[in-house]
Amino acid sequence: ENTYHVKRWGNGYFDIGETGDINVIPRYDQPNLKINLKEVIEEMQSEGIQFPAVIRFHDILRSQVELLNKTFRNTIEEANYEGQYFGVFPVKVNQMREVIEEIVDAGSRYNYGLEAGSKPELIAALAYNTNKNSLTILNGYKDEEYLRLALLGLKIDRNIIIVIEKYSELLKLVTLAQKLDVKPIIGLRVKMMVKGRGKWEHSSGERAKFGLSIAEILNAVAYLEAEGLTDCIKLLHFHIGSQLTDIRAIKEAVQEASLVYSKLFKLGVPLEYVDVGGGLAIDYDGSQSTNDSSCNYNLAEYVSDIVHGFKQNCDLESVPHPHLVSESGRAITAHHSCVITNVIGEIHPSGTQYSTRKSTGEHIIVSNIRELEVDLTAAEKKDNHQEIYNDVVQLKSQAMQAFKLGILNLDELAKVETMYWRILNVIEQQMQNHDFIPEELNDISEMLSSQYLANFSVFQSAADSWAIDQVLPIVPISRLNEKPAKLCSLVDITCDSDGKIDKFIGHDTVANNIPMHKLNQDDDYYIGIFLTGAYQDVMGDMHNLFGRLNEVHIVSYDDDPKDFYIEEVVKGSSVDNVLSTMQYTPAIMAQVIKKEIDVQISRGKLKPREGVNLIDFYEDCLNGYTYLKQ
Ligand code: PLP
Repeated sequence: ENTYHVKRWGNGYFDIGETGDINVIPRYDQPNLKINLKEVIEEMQSEGIQFPAVIRFHDILRSQVELLNKTFRNTIEEANYEGQYFGVFPVKVNQMREVIEEIVDAGSRYNYGLEAGSKPELIAALAYNTNKNSLTILNGYKDEEYLRLALLGLKIDRNIIIVIEKYSELLKLVTLAQKLDVKPIIGLRVKMMVKGRGKWEHSSGERAKFGLSIAEILNAVAYLEAEGLTDCIKLLHFHIGSQLTDIRAIKEAVQEASLVYSKLFKLGVPLEYVDVGGGLAIDYDGSQSTNDSSCNYNLAEYVSDIVHGFKQNCDLESVPHPHLVSESGRAITAHHSCVITNVIGEIHPSGTQYSTRKSTGEHIIVSNIRELEVDLTAAEKKDNHQEIYNDVVQLKSQAMQAFKLGILNLDELAKVETMYWRILNVIEQQMQNHDFIPEELNDISEMLSSQYLANFSVFQSAADSWAIDQVLPIVPISRLNEKPAKLCSLVDITCDSDGKIDKFIGHDTVANNIPMHKLNQDDDYYIGIFLTGAYQDVMGDMHNLFGRLNEVHIVSYDDDPKDFYIEEVVKGSSVDNVLSTMQYTPAIMAQVIKKEIDVQISRGKLKPREGVNLIDFYEDCLNGYTYLKQ
């Protein structure tokens, strides 16, 4: 637990069992219901499901939907707040049909709706958010077709609120609505002055991409009044950024938005809802801080600040409490899925052993490094590790220079390299017993750390770790009662040196390495990348043509707290899937290979049976999984 901080980032959904395996506790209200992730992996293996794979816990999705809605409802009741809560899930955070279906189903009794930010998302929301009491909030830039779809929704009695992000949208909407004789329900997105905190803080402020300035809002109100449509303005919207790390940003936003709402209301704008957007953060690194991958508040505090903030300001201004809408996406989906992959090898900087026996006439640099190895035996007594370290670093650099000038030959360079790493290893071991380790010598552990090669693609499965340095919790699935003996970073199987993860949860800060267990030749070593259910799940890209992962959906039995079943298997991309996406025609490709094999057969260079086997093999690979087979 102290190594991987599972309790700190797990939000109650994960713990480490006595057997040293990681458990998933998928329902927040049933802490005794525990699913051993290793058993899930074994079940998947027995069903022939290849790794890497995504495991989805639908119960966690349902739990998060319930928690958010119940927290708002309870806080509203306790505060005697007069409005109600109508949450919406932003489809862009995880567009998978199964995810949307589960969220809509779990949210139906809370009138929890959907938010769409584009035409395709609206098309999905129209078909999936069929609950007449929940909202469908429409954000994003809109063309005429988008607006027509929105009006279609209104014609079939959906509670669709069209949020105006840009003034020109309003003119388009009014013209169209009048032509089609539909009364739109309009939201106005205000460009907030308060700055969010965290990576997405540019979502607010004067140069924000979306929203109307106060002047534009007043113009919009005047325009709608002139068109006789003032009563269509129902919602005030703001969004100051995702993953808001600091609760102060939320408090300030609520203060600003409640004033804008109150003043507009007093001007005669019949606003009924305020939409506070997304931003509810996830504590990915478990530090409860304002780090980019963390936050200094929890759900209860977030909700309380919104409800009490609006109540207080509206009471002071003597205006009604508006219904509250929020668009939390990350907080709903992040915990429910993880990526499981197997470590398939180790890359060690000092892995190769090369004979360093003294040869006649060897260069003095080589002899000097050899002497340092001898000195090391006395180093413990003399306490001169720093001196030896400085010397060996300098000699290695001199050796490189000498090689470039043609003075040192390949054999000598190989000897220098081998002795250099051996010396660093010994210094590191000897320093382990010391109370004080000089700063530079501390770096030796990092220099000696391994890279564990895992069967996955960062670009497909952990895009934010590559793109924005998002820290994601990474934990071995088993052996958690065994002290991990190796410091590692992770590399993936793409042909890209960026295909790596080297930001991990450290003790106090973000670390470049993570402790892992030594690999055993006979045992698989599975690791999980956790909290990947928001954005990561759907933003992946097919770098190197590595496609979507196999997926299983796990559901727990009600009557047995330890048992589970695989409700659904969703096959990941096959090679022909990804090639077709890139405009190839796999059938023609197979014909090309077949023709060439036939030529070799006709020339007698291949036996017919061998030729047929080769064609079958090529076709099997086309139909197969894109990742490494184990
Ligand atoms: N609403 C809007 C308008 C957004 O732009 C976003 C994401 O940035 C969200 C909601 C979802 O935010 P989060 O995932 O932080 O809850």
